[in-house]
Amino acid sequence: MGGEAGDDPNFEKDLEELRETFNSGKTRDASWRRSQLKAMQLLLKETEDEIFHALKQDLGKPRCEAYRDEIGTVTKSVQYALGNLKYWMSAKKVNLPLIAFPATAELIPEPLGLVYIISSWNFPFGLSLEPIIGAIAAGNVVVLKPSELAPTCSAVLASVIDKYLDNKAIKVFQGGVSVGQQLLQHKWDKIFFTGSAQVGRLVMAAAANHLTPVTLELGGKCPAVVDSISGSWDRESTFKRILGGKFASCAGQVCIGVDYILVEKRYLSTLVSRLQIWIRKMFGDNPKECLARIINKHHFIRLKNLLSDPLVKASIRHGGSLDEANLFIEPTILVDPPLHSAIMTEEIFGPLLPIITLDKIEDSVKFINSRPKPLTIYAFTNNEKLKKMLIAGTSSGGITFNDTLVQHAADTIPFGGVGGSGFGRYHGKFSFDTFSHEKAILRRGFLTDFWFRFPPWDDKKLQL
Ligand code: NAD
Repeated sequence: MGGEAGDDPNFEKDLEELRETFNSGKTRDASWRRSQLKAMQLLLKETEDEIFHALKQDLGKPRCEAYRDEIGTVTKSVQYALGNLKYWMSAKKVNLPLIAFPATAELIPEPLGLVYIISSWNFPFGLSLEPIIGAIAAGNVVVLKPSELAPTCSAVLASVIDKYLDNKAIKVFQGGVSVGQQLLQHKWDKIFFTGSAQVGRLVMAAAANHLTPVTLELGGKCPAVVDSISGSWDRESTFKRILGGKFASCAGQVCIGVDYILVEKRYLSTLVSRLQIWIRKMFGDNPKECLARIINKHHFIRLKNLLSDPLVKASIRHGGSLDEANLFIEPTILVDPPLHSAIMTEEIFGPLLPIITLDKIEDSVKFINSRPKPLTIYAFTNNEKLKKMLIAGTSSGGITFNDTLVQHAADTIPFGGVGGSGFGRYHGKFSFDTFSHEKAILRRGFLTDFWFRFPPWDDKKLQL
């Protein structure tokens, strides 16, 4: 197993072993891929308590939330991969133009080779194991570097992956920035990165040296457009789903969490009062019991600083209390903080929820387009015209109507960003494709040759 944070590990031997494993052809075998996916299922079942403990230790994640967001979601994805592996691996026949007659063609997926997966700390198991599913389903050998900011989770990942999966084909290198930097100098066949845009740029630059393809799963600010509160749709579900997508998943430290709400001015007071009622219903009198905490002091201070601007502070309508000793921030709602303040220009990644008021909800399109492309846009509405405007008039990784976060659990739709929120995609078959090269195979017969394809050249041939 690779080195710990602060070590100066020599990865060469491990990487050589991984290359040898890949070159042996073992990981291309369907039975190997299936056995590893089954081993991952077992890992998730048998080490559930260790995983719960590590998530509590590093992030204070409640058990139910940890099961929903990490163990349950990944278990579902492994099952889906096992059920579809044979089809994913199969050659797909394609048509050819007449010029090739007689011939047949097919696309055959082949593994890329040695892939490097770099993950973030907010869903340390989900964001590490989900891409590994795609990488092993596609027949690759894998290095995972989890985040040093969730050290208990990283240590558990390293020990359980070593124990359950084929450790000649899948290795975990623990460590922080220096380990990450050293590993980036190597030649990989694919780099799959989840994290910030800032580090994403470094990953791309390092990958360019070896012409290595990359997938960047980044973040950004995901808006939730809330249409007329007096509409015929289920508004109580709306409030619950918004709060669920903001506070009840890693305390808002989620790339697809609701970053801010857009609503018409006339609905503001109803929205705020209903959100307050639902905050009490969902998190009770002691929200510390059922919310995750902020990952570390650095991020706590970062969030505290977002509130330090006097105009931002004055916009707090609910919550706002900070407990530095326990790294806990109460669910906080703000109304119309200045648009140039950091809370509205930077990704919040925490339990602070600004509401921005608009004259008309249709103005949300212009508002969203004046900012970097989000990973997800949420919109709560049954107004088909507004839905069409948002689909056709904005650009984002995806749009989810009338709910939050559920798109992440769907294997049949791709997960990934566009523009500043990243590029490339995964989940389900999209993960398999991300870690495969689709090789074009053309088989030609000798029956005939069209005479105009070959010299001697004669301009009459152009008139055909
Ligand atoms: P980060 O970029 O600081 O770190 C991500 C990973 O990169 C970690 O494993 C870290 O050790 C490594 N790393 C850091 N500096 C490095 C360097 N110089 N060279 C090589 N590796 C380096 O991001 P983070 O704090 O872990 O995550 C927060 C960001 O990630 C947010 O922007 C969030 O939106 C985004 N995110 C995106 C998704 C998604 O699926 N799109 C999921 C979770 C988080």
